Amino acid sequence: MRCPFCHHRGNRVIDSRNAREGDSIRRRRVCSSCKRRFTTFEHVEHALPMVVKKDSRREPFDRGKIVAGLKRACEKRPVSVETIDQVANRVEAAVLERGEAEVPSSFIGTTLMDELHRIDQVAYVRFASVYRSFKDIDEFMRELEDLMIRRREEPRDIIRPRGKKGEAAP
Ligand SMILES: [Zn+2]
Repeated sequence: MRCPFCHHRGNRVIDSRNAREGDSIRRRRVCSSCKRRFTTFEHVEHALPMVVKKDSRREPFDRGKIVAGLKRACEKRPVSVETIDQVANRVEAAVLERGEAEVPSSFIGTTLMDELHRIDQVAYVRFASVYRSFKDIDEFMRELEDLMIRRREEPRDIIRPRGKKGEAAP
């Protein structure tokens, strides 16, 4: 850490405190050469681990997938977007708390189930029944996507006029 005034490398910390956001530390330093003071900020690195799937493949932790799964499980339930966001944050925090470079996908699945169990029983049952029948969270998330796509397409299928057997559709 060089002094911004004289570029000397030596300095001494004279004060440390948490910055307003809480995830960085503000330090007042004094240059040991020119004696001028300057401030540095240290940020906690939110390095998320790789997710290890059942088949041993690795992929980066994806918060978006968790939110998508939660939204699907909570569809038409009295669960706010804010609650879903908080749950995703808690799952992410649980993953970070392990402090490991890798996390099994099953850990994410069970953490999600515990969280859902607390916020909405119906959403929990939906999630658990589907999740347990899949090999891993990824397969489950893919299935959710398929379900959502199918659901979007259904109304069009009903409206679309169909030709009778033997006739060409218009
Ligand atoms: Zn200096």
